[in-house]
Amino acid sequence: MDVLYISMTKNILVTGKIPEVAITLLTAEGYRVDYPDTDRILNQEKLIEILTENSYDAVISFLTDTIDASVFASAPSVKIYSNYASGFDNVDIVEAEKRNIVVCNSPAPLSAEAVAEHTIALMLGLASRIVEADLYVRAGKYTQWTPMNFIGTDILGKTLGLIGTGRIGQRVAYYASRLGMKVVYNDIHRNESLEKECHAIYCESIADLLKQADVVSLHVPLLPSTRHLISTNQFALMKQSGFLINTSRGPVVDEKALVDALQKKIIGGVALDVFEFEPNISPQLIAMQNVILTPHIASASMEARNQMAEIAAQNIIDFFEGRVLNNKVH
Ligand code: NAD
Repeated sequence: MDVLYISMTKNILVTGKIPEVAITLLTAEGYRVDYPDTDRILNQEKLIEILTENSYDAVISFLTDTIDASVFASAPSVKIYSNYASGFDNVDIVEAEKRNIVVCNSPAPLSAEAVAEHTIALMLGLASRIVEADLYVRAGKYTQWTPMNFIGTDILGKTLGLIGTGRIGQRVAYYASRLGMKVVYNDIHRNESLEKECHAIYCESIADLLKQADVVSLHVPLLPSTRHLISTNQFALMKQSGFLINTSRGPVVDEKALVDALQKKIIGGVALDVFEFEPNISPQLIAMQNVILTPHIASASMEARNQMAEIAAQNIIDFFEGRVLNNKVH
């Protein structure tokens, strides 16, 4: 009589190095976990090669991994992709659905907190001109105090315009309102608890928000409807002193139009954690003083990254245990 051996061990690929807690959780379940022991990001060719040569049941992917039809085709045994990010615009959801592959994200509450704190730091950095002043001191240019050196602007009493008030936007509203800012917001869903807790005022249109705001901060997902949400026409509506902050996804802002708006002094300054063609950045932005640039690190607090790792691993465990998947994105 033939004996059928069914292996219960699951093989998991993590496409790069993430906090140890994910590996601990998965191995405690008896799963075997592979991950490249390097901080470098896999290119798609290498990812496909690894997937083709092995037989994985699940993958923890990064926002830098393009998970599309060619990746799915190279890994017919993979039943779930758990994306180590709250965004999931790097995954072809339509294709995954067609192939009956589950996709989850890792929307850690502490990640929303970290991004909100980073957003506030960028806003204060622009208002107080901290990065420019720091570079000035390091360059040995501080030879005497003068009354008009590095004049910035207060944020107390100024208006913050939030576009997108989901997990992150709401936390930014919380901090900004406690810093004495007036908060106005636009979202496809009106948020009455935000209006109550932060005295936030709903703007029917983005145009209306752009005209009022001293600082505009973007917290929408990257979707066909939000690609180049902010471009030439929108910059034209902003105040000439207005600041733009983008910690969402690069292509939400038309970077060419942004460079133009800064060069023509249509807006006052910008702080970006994400870029349209990242990791490439328009050289004009690098050369401008009223620009702050951070390398997509808004959620990079240790607390947030640990929680993201835990959620990314738990998505996979819940899937194989047949539990309800709280973070399934389709
Ligand atoms: P979320 O899904 O909780 O909130 C997004 C909000 O945007 C929702 O309220 C939604 O209704 C709104 N929205 C969608 N389309 C809109 C439109 N066309 N106009 C106005 N509002 C619209 O997401 P979140 O957790 O708050 O994260 C927002 C985005 O931030 C993520 O999708 C991700 O791309 C980005 N993010 C960046 C980092 C980073 O490190 N820089 C970290 C985490 C998340």
